[in-house]
Amino acid sequence: MDEKEVWDFLIIGGGAAGLTAAQYGARAGLKTAVIETASAGGQALLINDLENYPGLFPTVSGFDFSSAMEKQAKAFGAAFYTANVVSIDKKNGVFYVSAENETFLSKTLLLATGASHKKLDIPGEAELAGRGVSYCASCDGPFFRNKVVTVIGGGDAACDEARYLSTIASKVYLVHRRGELRAQAGVAQKVVENPKITLMLNQSPVRINGNGRVESVLLKNTLTGEETEHKTDAVFIFVGMIPQTSLVEFIKKDSAGYVVTDENMQTSIPGLFCAGDVRSKPFRQVVTAAADGAYAAYGAENYIRNMG
Ligand code: NAP
Repeated sequence: MDEKEVWDFLIIGGGAAGLTAAQYGARAGLKTAVIETASAGGQALLINDLENYPGLFPTVSGFDFSSAMEKQAKAFGAAFYTANVVSIDKKNGVFYVSAENETFLSKTLLLATGASHKKLDIPGEAELAGRGVSYCASCDGPFFRNKVVTVIGGGDAACDEARYLSTIASKVYLVHRRGELRAQAGVAQKVVENPKITLMLNQSPVRINGNGRVESVLLKNTLTGEETEHKTDAVFIFVGMIPQTSLVEFIKKDSAGYVVTDENMQTSIPGLFCAGDVRSKPFRQVVTAAADGAYAAYGAENYIRNMG
């Protein structure tokens, strides 16, 4: 497409939110394009079994799910570009989205950039990254077949990934800094009932030890202050997410840094929409990301209609 042509609905990010928005936007007749840095799919790509997406039963992998969504969006006419967006501007009612080698113009814009994994920021974490410290169980779990692994975190991600790792490792320890898990009750229950997972509650990681590869984690009991060395072959860290908002420093965010929208996903900038894990909301799931994407396309369609 020529640089001077203007898209109706330009989407940054090809996760569940962006892909659903692309499908709905293109199907509604909007000239729609998705910009993604690498392959589409986002965090869903890392899900081994997507077991809670309504209607997908038996389960599918996040990879197959994402591929099907991308094909579906393309079938409705959405275009896909691989590019690294570096800045966003709005001039005379048109969004200018600059990537390294090209500029995209659009009447509306959707930010669906998701969130990245939070780090613990403790000694040993960076030094041993890729040498037993990991943020992706499906990527790195198979390296630790029949070994002892330790998961850090008490939310849904830590619990889901601990269960996945229990199918590979000989033993999984789940270390959480409080006395009870934060995860949804049903998700936490499956961890508690899993004979290969041992919960280590009220324990906070202080340092990851190892010479070239992970050998142990120093844990501090959050009630007594006592420190113990816990032997492990790997440390999988799932302690929350950081919203990817560096492109939109200028828009309204909540106290945790997530982008605030109205119910049609419009941000504080008219015509700029936001969907998925980067958006301020109480429940982050593949299905809520997809729903956000559908609302954003609906919001963009209304916005364009009212532009006159
Ligand atoms: P989360 O819900 O924010 O949980 C983060 C966990 O890490 C909390 O238990 C927290 O402890 C702990 N933590 C944070 N900083 C820590 C630190 N410095 N040291 C030790 N522990 C630390 O994050 P998440 O599990 O990544 O989930 C993110 C979102 O995705 C959530 O909305 C979640 O529901 C969703 N999700 C859903 C599913 C599913 O439905 N199956 C799967 C994955 C993710 P505290 O509890 O003490 O704060």
